[in-house]
Order: sequence, then C-alpha cells, then structure tokens
Amino acid sequence: MVGGGPAGSAVAIRLARGGHAVTLIEKRPTPRHKACGDALTPRAVDELDQLGVDPVELGGHRTIGVRLRYNDRRQHVRWPEHPRFPNTGAALRRPVLDEHLRDLARRSGAQVLMGHEATAPVAERGLVRGARTVTEEGATRDVLARFVVVADGANSRFGRALGTTRDRNWPYGIAARTYFASPLASQPWIESVLRPRDADGRRISGFGWVTPVGDGTVNVGTAMLSTYRDVRSVNALKWLDHFAQQSAERWQFDASQQLKSPTRFRVPLGSSVGPKMGPTFLVVGDAAGAANPFNGDGVDAALLTARLASDVLDDALTSGTAASLQQYPTLLADELGRYHHVGRLSARFLGSPTIAGMVLSGAMRSPDAMAGVLRIGANELRRERTGGAERVYALAAAASRLAPSW
Ligand SMILES: Cc1cc2nc3c(=O)[nH]c(=O)nc-3n(C[C@H](O)[C@H](O)[C@H](O)COP(=O)(O)OP(=O)(O)OC[C@H]3O[C@@H](n4cnc5c(N)ncnc54)[C@H](O)[C@@H]3O)c2cc1C
Repeated sequence: MVGGGPAGSAVAIRLARGGHAVTLIEKRPTPRHKACGDALTPRAVDELDQLGVDPVELGGHRTIGVRLRYNDRRQHVRWPEHPRFPNTGAALRRPVLDEHLRDLARRSGAQVLMGHEATAPVAERGLVRGARTVTEEGATRDVLARFVVVADGANSRFGRALGTTRDRNWPYGIAARTYFASPLASQPWIESVLRPRDADGRRISGFGWVTPVGDGTVNVGTAMLSTYRDVRSVNALKWLDHFAQQSAERWQFDASQQLKSPTRFRVPLGSSVGPKMGPTFLVVGDAAGAANPFNGDGVDAALLTARLASDVLDDALTSGTAASLQQYPTLLADELGRYHHVGRLSARFLGSPTIAGMVLSGAMRSPDAMAGVLRIGANELRRERTGGAERVYALAAAASRLAPSW
C-alpha cells in the first residue's frame, strides 16, 4: 500500500487479517495533521465499525446531525434513519484516527514503514511490482509486491506515475480549515452555513462548517466547488478568515487566536480520477477521486473503496489469478457510479449563484426538504423505501442519463 491514510491503512488491516503479507509505506515519519474537517459521517462510522474501530473510544465525539444555516434561517437536521447505517456520526482529530488505523494494521500483521516516501513504481516486464522508496536520511529501498495499492491521497504523484489523470471537465472542491479553542467543543451538532459571504459581502457558492471536535477545540472551515461561477476571484484563506469572524460569537471563540495556520487544498471529487486499476494495481480513496461531490467528505469513500479493493485482492491472492482485479471498477461503479454522476451534475447547477440561491431559499423553508437534502448529501438513500429524498434523487438520476459525460 502506497500511503498510510484511512484508505491505505484500511486495505492493510483487511488483507493482513486475511493472512496475506502486507507492507504499508507512509512518507511521513510521524503522525501528521491531515487537513480535514474531522467529521465522520454515519457511513464512515459504519465502515470503521466493520474494522472494529469506535471513534468515540479513541477520544472522539458523537454527532447527532447538522445545524444548517442560510440567511437568517436555521434548521437542526438529524442524521437520517437508515436500515444499514447508524443515525449518529462522529468527530475525531485526523492524526488520532490515522495513527490508530496504522497501528491496527501493524497489530493485524502488516509491516508499516513510516518515513518512507514512494518515489517511483518498480516495474518488471511492464507490470508494476512495487515501489522505490526513500527515507528522510536519503536511504533508498525497493519494496516489492505482487500487487500494489495506490492510496497516496489527492495529489497522488505515485498514481500519476502509473498513468492516472483527473478529468478536468469534472468538478473538484477547494477547501481550507483551521482550529479555535471553544467552550462549545462538545456540542453534538455540526454547523454548516450555506453560501456564506466573503469580506466583500458576496455570497460564495459553497459552505462553511464548524465541527465541535470534543477536545476543547472546534474545526472551522470553508469549501467551494470549482464549478462556482466566480471561483477564480475568491481568496479561499481570506474567505475562511471572514467566516471564522462571523462564527466566533456563536461558538464563543476568539477569531484572532487560530490554533493552526489555515491551509487550502484541492479535493478531487465524484470518481474524477482514473483509471482505477491496472493489471497489478488498484487505486483507492482520494487517489481515485472518490470523495463525495455534494460535500467533499471523503473518509467514508476512502474506507469503502478500501473494502472493495481488499475483497478483490483477497480473491486474487487466494486464487492466484490477477484477473479478479478486473472486478474492482465494476464494484466501484455499482456502489458509487450513479451517485457520483448525479453529484457531478448537481455541482454544475449549484455553481450558479442564481440556481443555488433559489434551491436553498425554497428548501430552507421546509424541515422535510432539508432532511432530504442531508439524506442525499450524506449518501444515505434507501433502496428499500421511497421517501421524498429518493424521489428527487430518482428524477436527478434520470436527468443524469441525458448527460452521460458530465
Ligand atoms: C480541508 C479539508 C476538509 C475535509 N473535511 C472532511 C471531513 O470533515 N470529513 C470527511 O469525510 N472528509 C473530509 N475531507 C476529505 C478527506 O480528508 C479525504 O477524502 C481523506 O483523507 C482521503 O483519505 P485517503 O486515505 O484516500 O488519503 P489521505 O488521507 O490524504 O492519505 C494519503 C496518505 O498517503 C501519504 N502519501 C502521499 N504520497 C506518498 C508517497 N509518495 N509515499 C508514501 N506515502 C505517501 C500521505 O502522507 C498520507 O498519509 C476534507 C478534505 C480537506 C482538504
């Protein structure tokens, strides 16, 4: 596994538990602070549960839903009821989650090489058979394997060396975050402010969040879509700064006392990176552009893609045939294909300030409509039952068939 974030570690845990020899390569020598909103959706909590991990036991904080704000309206929307997923999410600092998952991989029998950066694929007769690594001290080492999992995150240099590319016609997210000390850090609601203004008073098509992380701090961030009409004119860090000032009184923090310098990142969304496999490698998590195109959440998708990849790798290693790897793109398409397509299409429309304003003004008047918005945004649609959210989604899915390349 190249990359020791949630995606790479989850594959390592699953395969090591299956009795396979696994090596995980992580370039950072020590646990790092991955820029993240620290919010774990119910789907992420469910995936973690399947690995035997409870974020609350790790010092995390249970969330019961999202407090949505738009203009002067406010709605508390609980995480949806779903036959499969829990109706609670969690908030947990990423270094804690990432280190715990790597440690679990180690305890499950995987070899974890911290401080080893994969610099290039090792090829043998045209097939990828491992990674060349270098340590901070400059020592190089080739790590050889029958199969390689590309889990090196959003920039995915290793993936690019194997020929993956991001489809530039599809949307990506631009997100930034920082932390503040707050006495409200144990609140059970995540706050999401829709289309928050920048310092010039412009409404930006995106959202700002405050995640109470439960350790005396709140994670404050902003995210917008590349489809936003005026995206190039927005300074993401200044927008975050202004958003923090606007949120400070409500959350009782001092906006001049950031605990972490804000950083700005691109998040590839909605299956925008491919191919997802080669004859001897699979691509998972952000490296595959798996994050949710509705809100940029990607930990649940990282864990889901890891689960699917582990299943086909287990099959390939057990049966001795690499042909099993070919099932991976189909499994991914079955799980996420339609949802990502609808999300990419929606992102195009929601990038228009007029359309986004109309949709939100209407939806914020109705608790049921906003519950539907959260159900769709959290990818908690029910196959077995048809409520309002499923009906709206079905219409959008039908429309998406008319725009197959969007
Ligand atoms: C500001 C921001 C806020 C976000 N908020 C949320 C949120 O609240 N909830 C949510 O679910 N998602 C959120 N996301 C998305 C989420 O962080 C990612 O989708 C998730 O981290 C993907 O996990 P991953 O394992 O695929 O990649 P990563 O977590 O990026 O892990 C990749 C790992 O690979 C390592 N690596 C990279 N290159 C190499 C190399 N060459 N050799 C060895 N190791 C390498 C990196 O050091 C890293 O540890 C947010 C993203 C951003 C930018």
